[in-house]
Amino acid sequence: MSTIAAIATAPSNGGIGIIRMSGKECFKILNQIFRPLNPQKIEDISGYTIKYGYIVNIKTGENMDEVLVSYFKSPKSYTTEDMCEINSHGGMVIEQEILKQCLLAGAELAEPGEFTKRAFLNGRIDLSQAEGVIDLINSKTAKEAKASFQQLEGELSQKIQEIRKMQLDIIADIEASIDYPEYDDVEEVTSQRLKKVLIEIREKLIRLEESYNNGRILKEGIRTVIVGKPNAGKSSLLNAILGEERAIVSNIEGTTRDTIEEFVTIHGIPLKLIDTAGIRNAKDEVEEIGVQKALKLIKKADLVIDIIDNTKELKNEDKEILSMLTEKVAIILLNKIDEGDFHLEDKEEIKETKKPIIKISAKTKEGIEELYQKIIEMFQINQMEIEQGNLVTNMRHKNQIHKAVEAIEEAQIVLEQELPIDLISVPMKQSLEELSAITGEKVSEDIISEIFSKFCLGK
Ligand code: GDP
Repeated sequence: MSTIAAIATAPSNGGIGIIRMSGKECFKILNQIFRPLNPQKIEDISGYTIKYGYIVNIKTGENMDEVLVSYFKSPKSYTTEDMCEINSHGGMVIEQEILKQCLLAGAELAEPGEFTKRAFLNGRIDLSQAEGVIDLINSKTAKEAKASFQQLEGELSQKIQEIRKMQLDIIADIEASIDYPEYDDVEEVTSQRLKKVLIEIREKLIRLEESYNNGRILKEGIRTVIVGKPNAGKSSLLNAILGEERAIVSNIEGTTRDTIEEFVTIHGIPLKLIDTAGIRNAKDEVEEIGVQKALKLIKKADLVIDIIDNTKELKNEDKEILSMLTEKVAIILLNKIDEGDFHLEDKEEIKETKKPIIKISAKTKEGIEELYQKIIEMFQINQMEIEQGNLVTNMRHKNQIHKAVEAIEEAQIVLEQELPIDLISVPMKQSLEELSAITGEKVSEDIISEIFSKFCLGK
């Protein structure tokens, strides 16, 4: 493999910039462009050493920058190859100039993600761990970062390997029963045991697949829809949550006609807030679009916040919305308590929903903290799963797990129908392959290229 070089730090001016190199020729190349204050033979420099000196222009011999260079010797490096990292001053031009010297001295420009790809190809990490690296870099919340780090540390890989081992044992069992057909009861015993193990494997996979939903929430936020009839205070609530005047508040009905989406983190729980045009009996065509959209949004929402004007009697529109909450995770807010309490919580239509009720004032922000606590309480399971790790946060992994479940179900059908037992080795091998694609034991070059193309340069 060639020796690659790239700027690893973000392309902007900063305190330091890092140019890294990896490959067999790494130290030879470095030797041509780095003039250490205290020169030593490479054999005498141990890994994880930092040396101070100057980067020189390869053509003119001129000093270009004062740098610190870290040495990493194979196999104890990020890529497992010989590596170095040049810590230069963090200017975009000087970083580019140093990179240029590396290339002139024989390095090749690294492709996006190529360092991590080498770590994978050289067997230091598996594919799901490599994907954890990019997810960690792209994390939008601390919780997502934590889940990505756990993936990077190999927690998902470990779970997958456990299940793969169970699958391999089954395949071995089947082969044994084919090898010893003279013992009549072997097949019967095997088949009984297989039934049990297959149920266990399927349950483990389903649990992993389900954890994707929590993973999605971590990544994209709890899709939260604020509904309520016009003037109930939806925009005001959105503003109170966002802490700034981003949605236009007005007391003319139906001004928030367009959908506004905002991403906020409340005590570490990410919310994707979707404000709607307000649900009402359609008066004109434009409003009707708003209503349809809101209904669709409620269907897609992870959490519905129904805000009701507590200073007025319940209107038909309020009742209509309340009736849509039955199947949803929802919170009812009785708004405008700064103007007095009209005890709408005693109304049958509200009581019937059995949803939590919180009295708030979007204007004075009274009760907003209580709303946050309720949301945290309702999504507590997620938090627990994050603490335990083994979260699936990646769509590709989720799809592979799903395909593995389908193959297991096929195997179960074969067993149910009491067909010859060796027939289940086909779906069993299939499910094994689907899981192997997660950790990368068996995955096509195209998929690998696609995964690493999403990385940034220098990673
Ligand atoms: P939307 O149509 O549901 O988005 O409602 P808005 O947020 O635009 O609010 C409608 C009107 O009610 C505005 O005049 C707000 O100032 C007022 N309003 C909203 N929340 C409160 C509140 O908690 N207390 C009081 N007194 N007025 C509020």
